[in-house]
Amino acid sequence: MSIFWILYFLSLYVKNSYSTSSKYNKALIYLSNYGYLDANDMKMDSSNKKPLKKGIKQFQSFMGLKPTGFLSRDTMKTMSMPRCGVKDKTGPVIKRFQKYSAGAGRWNMMLLRYKIVKYPEAMKKWDVDNTFEQAFNKWSEHSNIMFEAATYGKIDIEIKFVKGQHGDETPFTGPGNVVAHAFFPTSGGDIHFDDYETWTINSPKGTNLLQVAMHEIGHSLGLTHSDEFEAVMCPITKRYTPGYGLHQDDIRAIQDLYGKKNKSMPAPTPSPYPPETDWENWWYQIPYSRAYYWSYY
Ligand SMILES: [Zn+2]
Ligand SMILES: [Zn+2]
Repeated sequence: MSIFWILYFLSLYVKNSYSTSSKYNKALIYLSNYGYLDANDMKMDSSNKKPLKKGIKQFQSFMGLKPTGFLSRDTMKTMSMPRCGVKDKTGPVIKRFQKYSAGAGRWNMMLLRYKIVKYPEAMKKWDVDNTFEQAFNKWSEHSNIMFEAATYGKIDIEIKFVKGQHGDETPFTGPGNVVAHAFFPTSGGDIHFDDYETWTINSPKGTNLLQVAMHEIGHSLGLTHSDEFEAVMCPITKRYTPGYGLHQDDIRAIQDLYGKKNKSMPAPTPSPYPPETDWENWWYQIPYSRAYYWSYY
């Protein structure tokens, strides 16, 4: 065999092992970003890939893939889909509705005031206002919570479209990947959209604003991610779907937190904060950088 062929096969081998390790690195980062691996798991060495395999399996189960623990083509493809930046795994798998009620908290009032403090660069203000009104209505149609677009005074949910670093611990990195993220009520309820995305309405092109806004508002109200792929609270950003609405899974979740429309509110859920907290102003006491992924379990 000539030296040429030896070098050729050697280069193929190196390339192959490089792409395998880069695939594993990508998976490691993804699984740690979205709560499937914790800091201890990340310390593992190459001789102990058990935590990684467990994380991959959990991710596959959550996304409705076959839980093999291997980084299959479908698994990698799902990891590369645009999505919400909030973690999927927020605690031990127990009764899900109890989990998010206690973990992410909920608002203790019926009427929430929201304000869009920074609009997307490429959309008309009127279209954006109209889209958010529709998105908030989708949630209030099914539960006792109500919303008001505010232009002055106390704002409960602040909404902004930003690029790159924007004052919390999760900068937006460009089109695709993370399209938006939101804070749970226990962390203030604000919503940030990545303005690197091409936000659109009523079009299969770009990223649909109404659908993503509905999802992020769900977090602002205290809902965590759902493993029901058809639910609005599924973390993967879906293609534009005309007539997009809440899934039964989302409706059960919002009613669990705020009660059925026109019926009495459920009893307040236990809060991770001490009872002497000033409920009118307590979120101002939380450092802004303490994002949605604060450790509450
Ligand atoms: Zn989300
Ligand atoms: Zn942010």
